[in-house]
Amino acid sequence: MKKSELLELFLDLCRIDSPSGEEKSVGDYIIKHLARHKIRAGRDAYGNVIAKVAGEGKPLVISAHLDTVEPGRGVKPVVRNGVVRSDGQTILGADDKAGLTAAIAVAEEAVGHGWRIRPLELVFTRQEEMDLDGVSHLDWSRIRAREGLILDGSDEPGRITIASPYIYNVDIRVQGRAAHAGVEPDKGINALAIAAEAIRELKLGRIDRQTTANIGTLAAGSAVNSIPAEAVMCAETRSHSQRSALAQVDLMNRAFKRAVRRRRGARLYFKSRLACRGYRYDKKDPLIKELKAAMIAHGWKVAWEESCGASDANVWAEKRIKAVEISIGYRDAHTTGEWINVDDIWSVFRFLAAYIQVK
Ligand SMILES: [Zn+2]
Repeated sequence: MKKSELLELFLDLCRIDSPSGEEKSVGDYIIKHLARHKIRAGRDAYGNVIAKVAGEGKPLVISAHLDTVEPGRGVKPVVRNGVVRSDGQTILGADDKAGLTAAIAVAEEAVGHGWRIRPLELVFTRQEEMDLDGVSHLDWSRIRAREGLILDGSDEPGRITIASPYIYNVDIRVQGRAAHAGVEPDKGINALAIAAEAIRELKLGRIDRQTTANIGTLAAGSAVNSIPAEAVMCAETRSHSQRSALAQVDLMNRAFKRAVRRRRGARLYFKSRLACRGYRYDKKDPLIKELKAAMIAHGWKVAWEESCGASDANVWAEKRIKAVEISIGYRDAHTTGEWINVDDIWSVFRFLAAYIQVK
């Protein structure tokens, strides 16, 4: 395969609309493309695309996600001086079409040239950008591999996402009592004021090196002359240490309890849930060591990424499958300024070509 052919595949994928929830067309394109290269692909019940390529030894997952964020309709990729960008009206969608491109191309090359490779399990998920909904519904009975690569990290190739945080979402509701603010204010309990007191007591933002906390939304009140009966908030905390994340949830709970207790008749509803399970790989783990060695051999400078966000890799880790996220070159993702070097798309493809072959 020539670099220009790989670029054409990438540009084709970028031009297909695939906002989260509308991944049918891009999935159809990929299934047809693979079929032309004698690789059979299908969908699981949720619509994730799965394809397998026979090989020898331990099977390997190669995964990327099908969906893109908005504004991502009618993407017109522009190539200039070896860099691909959108026309400025939309995102580019290299997150994660650069990953799809490398995965599809390497599988097709392997089959086309009869390379001796490990068995491949290509998994292209839907709705990654929507709370990892696609991978969460993946038909795991179709997956045999215990390890693999997730092609979805930002920044220059060579970064290995070694850790990702535990994320807790917290729903908070302070229940007060409505009353006319001018006629009988003594009968009311101002839920908004109670919430404000609790929030003032909390430390938010960066808590420590591993931990953050945030109150993301607050809705309260219905009219300027009514005492707000209710204040509803969504909060989150995330940490590479589950214990620290839970400690933050507890601090939030206690701050709200104290504030509510100070006003007779007020009530508190407080509910937290683990939105995403974190993980941390040991740098001495044989798979990580092997991956690092392969990257160095390929000429990449290896860097360890401790992610602040969740990706499909979190769900794979939860299933005890070591599918490690690696960076694939896209920058400024989720903005209309998103870009990627053509050389990085090529380099990731070349890296995979070496990585999947039986030594
Ligand atoms: Zn992504």
